[in-house]
Amino acid sequence: MKIIDLRSDTVTRPTAAMREAMYRAEVGDDVFGEDPTVNRLEAMAAERLGKEAALFVASGTMGNLVALLTHCGRGDQVILGDRSHTYLFEQGGISALGGIMPWPVPNQPDGTLRLEDIQKAIREDNVHFPRTRLVCLENTHNMCNGTPLTAEYTASVARLARDYGLRVHLDGARIFNAAAALGMDVRELVREVDSVMFCLSKGLCAPVGSLLVGGSDFIAEARRARKVVGGGMRQAGVLAAAGIVALEQMTGRLAEDHARARRLAEGLAEIPGVEVGPVATNIIYFWLAEGVSKSPEEVVDGLAERGVLLLGRELGRFRAVTHYWIGDEDVERAIGAMRELMGSN
Ligand SMILES: *Cc1c(COP(=O)(O)O)cnc(C)c1O
Repeated sequence: MKIIDLRSDTVTRPTAAMREAMYRAEVGDDVFGEDPTVNRLEAMAAERLGKEAALFVASGTMGNLVALLTHCGRGDQVILGDRSHTYLFEQGGISALGGIMPWPVPNQPDGTLRLEDIQKAIREDNVHFPRTRLVCLENTHNMCNGTPLTAEYTASVARLARDYGLRVHLDGARIFNAAAALGMDVRELVREVDSVMFCLSKGLCAPVGSLLVGGSDFIAEARRARKVVGGGMRQAGVLAAAGIVALEQMTGRLAEDHARARRLAEGLAEIPGVEVGPVATNIIYFWLAEGVSKSPEEVVDGLAERGVLLLGRELGRFRAVTHYWIGDEDVERAIGAMRELMGSN
């Protein structure tokens, strides 16, 4: 039985083209700036996002940490969403390692932060206050139904930030999903921000790595920050080679994952006792209606017995994510498994 792994798009294994490119990759010592494949990936990423420069990092977490270490000093304040990945799921690394003070403001259901909430969170110049340096946004928003932020919204936050001398960092782990969902060039979505992190290792299928993208001065400083957190890799071209294939071959097909996510949501919503959140990209949240006497564990385990994996033990709602290795039949099988589990065959 094929396991249908909907836990995350991080479970994606590299494609045959990626493995081939990794095998053939020309490499050198990237800490000396001598890995031609890493250099090529960084140049490609900068070009694709319409920025001056880029830096290859080991993970999205490292990319966000390095960005914040570069934008902020110890005791500086960063404004971010209370449901953002950086605030919830990165171990408080910005505080633990950077002495940076997070100032969470409420994420709206569509992943945005209200402009008036951001404005209220900006501290004025006063000897008692931390200095506000940075606003962080997340696109697509993982915890807020995978919703894409529009270019207009991002620009409005950037304008506000600029008025107060602040910078903007975008956690764009799934920025290419946002671009696909909105039907626009990714450049439009990041034009007004100072830095962007995006992941190669999620829907784009590469085995390892993320990129931090921004102005050349910012990236030169970020290169120092990457080194101090132990992120200076040597013949990293074997990894970057898969990233190049990801950018060349995988960004154009993400709409397929979104269509399958919509089909999965539709199928689940037809099952009595199952309620499904809005679906805009490849992330689906669903939960059991009031009065259904099944625990989250029973659902997760019951589906696993039927070969369908998803997350949901501690969240109270279930998360399923579509990706390259999930086809139309897999979606139908997942719906069937849930139908059987809920006893509505
Ligand atoms: C996955 C993710 C990250 C972190 O990436 P890792 O490579 O898992 O460290 C950061 N932000 C968002 C929104 C993510 O979904």
